[in-house]
Amino acid sequence: MAKHIDFLKKPLTEIYGENCFSDAVMKERLPADAYAELKLVQAGKTNLTKEIAEIVANSMKDWAIDKGATHYTHWFQPLTGLTAEKHDSFISPNADGTVLLEFSGKELIQGEPDASSFPNGGLRATFEARGYTAWDTTSPAFIKDQGGVKTLTIPTAFISYTGEALDKKVPLLRSMEAVNKSSVRLLRALGNTTTTRVTSTVGPEQEYFLVDEALFQKRPDLLLTGRTVFGTMSAKGQELDDHYFGAIKERVGIFMQELNYELWRLGISAKTQHNEVAPNQFELASIFSTSNLSTDSNQLVMETLKAVAKRHGMVALLHEKPFAGVNGSGKHNNWSISTDDGQNLLQPGDSPEDNAQFLLFLTAVVTAVDRFSPYLRLSAANSGNDHRLGANEAPPAIISIFLGDQLSEILDALADGTIYKKRDGQVLEVGVTTLPTFPRDMTDRNRTSPFAFTGNKFEFRMVGSSQSLAGPNVMINTTIAEILDEFAERLEKVEDKLAEIKLIVKEYYSRHRRVVFNGNGYSEEWVEEAARRGLPNLTSTVEALQEMVSDTCVNLFEKQKVFTRAELESRLEIYLETYSKQINIEAGVMVEMAKRLIAPAATRYLQEVLNSISSQKELGFKTPGQEKLAKELSLHINKLFKKSDILEEEIVKALGLEHDVIAQATAYRNKVVPAMAKLRIEGDSLEKITDKGCWPYPSYEDMLFRL
Ligand code: ADP
Ligand code: MG
Repeated sequence: MAKHIDFLKKPLTEIYGENCFSDAVMKERLPADAYAELKLVQAGKTNLTKEIAEIVANSMKDWAIDKGATHYTHWFQPLTGLTAEKHDSFISPNADGTVLLEFSGKELIQGEPDASSFPNGGLRATFEARGYTAWDTTSPAFIKDQGGVKTLTIPTAFISYTGEALDKKVPLLRSMEAVNKSSVRLLRALGNTTTTRVTSTVGPEQEYFLVDEALFQKRPDLLLTGRTVFGTMSAKGQELDDHYFGAIKERVGIFMQELNYELWRLGISAKTQHNEVAPNQFELASIFSTSNLSTDSNQLVMETLKAVAKRHGMVALLHEKPFAGVNGSGKHNNWSISTDDGQNLLQPGDSPEDNAQFLLFLTAVVTAVDRFSPYLRLSAANSGNDHRLGANEAPPAIISIFLGDQLSEILDALADGTIYKKRDGQVLEVGVTTLPTFPRDMTDRNRTSPFAFTGNKFEFRMVGSSQSLAGPNVMINTTIAEILDEFAERLEKVEDKLAEIKLIVKEYYSRHRRVVFNGNGYSEEWVEEAARRGLPNLTSTVEALQEMVSDTCVNLFEKQKVFTRAELESRLEIYLETYSKQINIEAGVMVEMAKRLIAPAATRYLQEVLNSISSQKELGFKTPGQEKLAKELSLHINKLFKKSDILEEEIVKALGLEHDVIAQATAYRNKVVPAMAKLRIEGDSLEKITDKGCWPYPSYEDMLFRL
């Protein structure tokens, strides 16, 4: 049953952020000098003192108690991709049997979750036994309201006692610092004296499916893995595009309203919602913010999607590929960098200097994306995304960049020293300082590029719907930082900045323009063309992840102070282990469904058909159709058993490789996954010919077209 919400009883302006310990709340509740100092801490200009922590903690506690909270939690993002929390109450008992409500600065700053159950890839074993959580002052605390149970939730980083990152936030913050340093350095080299900080920004678009919960509960595969491991496509799929353009159904509309309400209360700027391409697939976009805030908010968006869907008798599926044969779900990562004095560094300018600067930053992005493409690719790698990237729906696993014809032609002209012809036939002498004005919509035409320039930002479209935004943004920020440093190095040494910018753009664009592709990224021709250009095509997670520990990768991340070799190695281990575990569960569910649901149903139906045939024969009827059916049923049932056995054997072999994570993940990828595909054919063949009335789980048609 839908929870009743007093949606319209309060003005939206009052609802917005009511559960967020926002800047406005802090300004109102903290003493002015404490607030001012906290702002300096947030800007990285001074360190947090015990005194300030004490004041903030006290104010946070009072605010949270006013809101009805009894507990607080340090909220963090372990490498499993979920968020973790441990709840402590504010109570501090007195000797006389009464109680005080307390929350100290120390409790705000540092927590010690029982971290032994979180994966650390050997880090804690190597360096130190335990980890701790540390308050991230740049991300606001909030009240999590779960059916009226309210908890003060404090975003934290999860670190080992010797300072190694055990989570997703720490490297993200480090990568933001890297891009800040390099950008400011480059701006200084260009003569900018006013910018003091550059921040990477992200605006996420989140895709998801909704299915009726009663149907979901009847599918062990959805329940345990988030995707269907069996299932035949219904007669109708997404070919009519009628879902995409259709009106939002009432049940979904009511759900979305409550979802928005919950997100707005948290101060999350849910802005756009619409149907997606596949039936029962939807999208939610929020307004951009710093990479860190957007990452935290997106984790909450995913949690809230699930929680609110449940209240409406539905389940939100965040898996990258819940249904074979219809589009999977991604998460578009709109990315840019901007200065604290209000300049978006990827926005074409109005003055010659601004244009030159824009082209320089743009060239840096093109360079980073080409030189370090495997790291972008691996940041979107997980078992779910393997079904999307490089499969029958794009973007492909090949990293390329879309700039649009106009911008590519300008850069080509600069690189080749040729003349640029404007669209209207006018000839324009382009230098780095003379750019034609770009219409804002020029770039939105290509939806098939994994990394598309969209006028004043890039849209990284490879990210999987269930992923944290942290990983991809660590990669984008760090790789760009490295190139910006290279450019700064050169510009610091010369007087004539414009002449040097010209040289840099010419040199780097010539070298890296192979990564620019404005055509259809989903086409077969592109795969061939990309191979001719020498662009990597890392089609699987297992292959892509291993790039993490290449010498180039380690050198880059150590130089930019984002990851140490040990951290990269531990991450590789954890991600490969996660991959293996996920495939293992999926394969296990398949065997279980094959033997305990599909085979019994099909066998019972076969018996029914055989009974019918023999009773009809007694009466002298002819039964060729039913005999054919009985034969087919029998054939597929036998094959189903045989292929289940083969899959089980492959699982056992893969499990035996536990001592070597790479060999194990490779076995899951190369042996178990293909065995699953073969078994699926038999299960799905039986679904097509067995009485729907006795089929043991809901069909695609039920799940995709009924809401
Ligand atoms: P478009 O018109 O290109 O589709 P929108 O304005 O609709 O762009 O934005 C799409 C997403 O990009 C939104 O989440 C938006 O907040 C985000 N976005 C806009 N500007 C930036 C920026 N400078 N940095 C990061 N994300 C941005
Ligand atoms: Mg998009």
